[in-house]
Amino acid sequence: MSASDDLVEKMKEMYKEQGEEITDEKAREAANNLSGYFDLVWKFAKEDGARKRRLKKEPDGFPAEGTRSCLLCSTTINETNGWYDWYGHTCLLCRKAVKDGVIPTFIFEHYNSYFAMWALDSKFKIKHQTAKKYIREGKLIPRIVLTEDGKPHYYIFLKKENPGLIERYSPERKSYDRSRKKQNKVWSKKMKIELMAEHKKFMEERKKKYPNLYK
Ligand SMILES: [Zn+2]
Repeated sequence: MSASDDLVEKMKEMYKEQGEEITDEKAREAANNLSGYFDLVWKFAKEDGARKRRLKKEPDGFPAEGTRSCLLCSTTINETNGWYDWYGHTCLLCRKAVKDGVIPTFIFEHYNSYFAMWALDSKFKIKHQTAKKYIREGKLIPRIVLTEDGKPHYYIFLKKENPGLIERYSPERKSYDRSRKKQNKVWSKKMKIELMAEHKKFMEERKKKYPNLYK
């Protein structure tokens, strides 16, 4: 679809306001790009609206339409291995983990609430094998999406369960450092005991549920 003449003129004006004169040809190209972009946005919005309407009739969701990526693990999905529900598109493995309560639903609204395994490497230089060692030692607490035969498919680390994983130089890091300084020793010790107890309980439950993961 090509842009209207009005939009072409508007483009020229906008460029002029920024102190740049552009040719009709350039203005048309820019306008076409813009209307192409809006066509796409409009198309996505329409598709999204249709999916949401369908969800009202099928509240448990339905197979993914077309080719997509899982919102959690990024696996390519289609109607055979993907699903759509209120959280968006996920692969069937991640969906099951959400249903089972292994993966909390808030991560789909707050992408910043966790680190994926690959992010441990890119942000903290913790390689996969080291991360697995830390998991065994209880230094990292993972949430693990499993395959059908119980093998790890995808790991995430919730920030609230892994307070040590705080990105350097971020505002969170600064406030973390500040509040750490304020804590007195007694308080830290108490927290440590509580956290360790909580963690121990968590690990015991996980070990009981998925013994293969901790061999
Ligand atoms: Zn997935």
